[in-house]
Amino acid sequence: MAEKMYEIIIVGGGPGGLTAGLYGSRANRKTILLEKFIPGGQIANTEEVEDYPGFELISGAELAMKMTEHAKSFGLEIVSDEVKEIYAEGDHRKVLTASGDIYSGRAVIISTGGSPNHLSVQGEKEFAGRGVSYCAICDGAFFKGQVIAVVGGGDAAVEEAMFLTKFGSKVILIHRRDKLRAQKIIQDRAFKNKKLEFIWDTVVESINGDEIVNSLTLSNVKTGQKSKLAVGAIFIFIGFVPNSNISREPLAKDEGGYIITDSKMETSIPGIYACGDVRSQLVRQITNAVGDGTTAAIAAEKYIEKNEW
Ligand code: NAP
Repeated sequence: MAEKMYEIIIVGGGPGGLTAGLYGSRANRKTILLEKFIPGGQIANTEEVEDYPGFELISGAELAMKMTEHAKSFGLEIVSDEVKEIYAEGDHRKVLTASGDIYSGRAVIISTGGSPNHLSVQGEKEFAGRGVSYCAICDGAFFKGQVIAVVGGGDAAVEEAMFLTKFGSKVILIHRRDKLRAQKIIQDRAFKNKKLEFIWDTVVESINGDEIVNSLTLSNVKTGQKSKLAVGAIFIFIGFVPNSNISREPLAKDEGGYIITDSKMETSIPGIYACGDVRSQLVRQITNAVGDGTTAAIAAEKYIEKNEW
């Protein structure tokens, strides 16, 4: 099969990848973005975004659509396909997809984000899609009028718990400590929400049900006391694992498996860049994914120019 020739190949269509696509194509480099679902990444499943400058409040889906259209207006090609492997072959950086296509470029930008962490407790796999969910915007409406549990204490858990109060008779956030990790502004809002309750210092031991979820077995980490909580659904937001196992030649990673880059977003392999949530860094916001994508694309452009193939 003939290889498809490009200059910059972007893997993953979240805000980082879309921004890299905008800058790569605006620099007149033949640029393609490969995305296995639809462009937008995690923001496509976010109800509201209120911390992206210039938009006081915008739905995640609308922001994703605007970013996609903007990048396409400069000539970015977007293809729906899953990337199986990235590899270096001489001066070329190549990408093999699930449909068997090989894309050959001069630089590759990895923007693959992460996948939700699992609790790994009894019942989680069994009831996935039947009361166990990792996406409030996708599944929240199925549990109208029911008691909904949310697990986690970070920005995602607290924001999604608030969103779920639109549907549930009440939402109970279960956290393994007695303090939330979420940003203070998000916490303040959550504590004011009358439909949101908290269970502290507690972990979920099992998810129970027959056809669908009907209860959780909980354990207090301080007292060891066990209890049963009747719920119609459980939404799990306990961070995520980076989708970083994508390169044939191993890339340098931190202890969490996030790809290490230099300030140019270049990985340990020249010509391969990483941006956004898959990259080792302190914060994971849309704004810094966008910044990473900008840097990665401009650095890739300079790398191609310098090597003058
Ligand atoms: P996170 O910040 O890593 O928080 C994960 C939470 O899950 C923590 O509270 C953690 O508890 C808890 N947890 C982890 N493993 C657990 C387990 N096995 N059992 C029970 N609880 C467990 O993850 P996130 O909330 O998904 O956010 C990821 C990144 O995206 C963060 O950088 C966040 O700031 C960003 N984000 C930002 C926004 C926003 O700005 N609006 C929205 C969503 C996400 P401990 O606290 O005890 O560690």
